[in-house]
Amino acid sequence: MKLSLVVPCYNEEESVGLFQDAVIGAFDNCGYDYEIVFVNDGSKDNTLFRLKKLFKEQKCPIKIVSFSRNFGKESAIYAGMKHASGEYISLIDADLQQRPEIVRDMVKMLDEHQEYDVVAAYQDRRNEGKILRFFKKSFYNIINRLSNVKLQPDASDFRTFRRCVADNLMDMAEYHRFSKGLFAWVGYETCFIPYTACERVCGTTKWSFRKLLNYAIDGIIGFSTAPLRLSTYLGAFTALAALFYLIVVICQKLFSGIDIPGYATAIVLILALGAMQLICIGIIGEYVGRAFEQSKNRPIYIAKEVLSYEETE
Ligand code: UDP
Ligand code: MG
Repeated sequence: MKLSLVVPCYNEEESVGLFQDAVIGAFDNCGYDYEIVFVNDGSKDNTLFRLKKLFKEQKCPIKIVSFSRNFGKESAIYAGMKHASGEYISLIDADLQQRPEIVRDMVKMLDEHQEYDVVAAYQDRRNEGKILRFFKKSFYNIINRLSNVKLQPDASDFRTFRRCVADNLMDMAEYHRFSKGLFAWVGYETCFIPYTACERVCGTTKWSFRKLLNYAIDGIIGFSTAPLRLSTYLGAFTALAALFYLIVVICQKLFSGIDIPGYATAIVLILALGAMQLICIGIIGEYVGRAFEQSKNRPIYIAKEVLSYEETE
């Protein structure tokens, strides 16, 4: 098997059939074997039913990994890689925002350039609102400043890579997964190619702003301990400011006889210090929480059902 297309699907009942047709169209006469590994990430609509229908039709080799509940796209990617048998593995969304034709180019690139192990696509033009774009840009600035790994701005999970890269990714059994960071962490020679994301064929995006924000926090906490150091700096800065203020107050009292202003200052200081302490505890809590979750060693996903063309052959 030359190529495995790993496709996370969450409530994609209308997309999966169109996706398969697009793949068959794109890889027609490509001259090598390919398979599609659909991962049903606990969809609440008829995605699984549609996938099983495609499986029965066997228009092309299909595997289905169906989760017991929604575990998230990152877990779906992990499960898909576990079940992929291709020499090359490609991560692609089910909604056809990322065209399968580009995967064909990626495969060609890997074939022709032995020095590359990963071909990753980044969005050259984003059809998103200004605010979301601003937040995404700020996120890349922050994480690239704080962390040792460097992320390519706008690079997505839309990638094709060699099996050795997938093996390394799967060795990292972290519970809070952030693929872009994991790819940067494992290294390997990566070739970035531009692409323009198309409109979704149907359905709506599964990423709310809250989900994106949590994902961004996962990325920063997972790849940097700088926020912990920030709380140390914040503490040191507050201590110095307090010392300075103490000296000012004593001098005022001793040399000018000014009464120490009371109520308002005290309240503001108490609130400011309380807030700073809460922020620091929150930051520490993020790390402790993750360590706690990882220490439980729970699986990254639970597959309720696995169907493979290999078993029906
Ligand atoms: N997805 C998933 N689990 C989730 C959310 C999304 O498997 O909890 C899948 C989704 O079905 C799609 C891909 O991840 O194939 C990308 O999601 P989406 O298109 O909603 O994200 P966007 O393209 O808007 O960033
Ligand atoms: Mg999409």
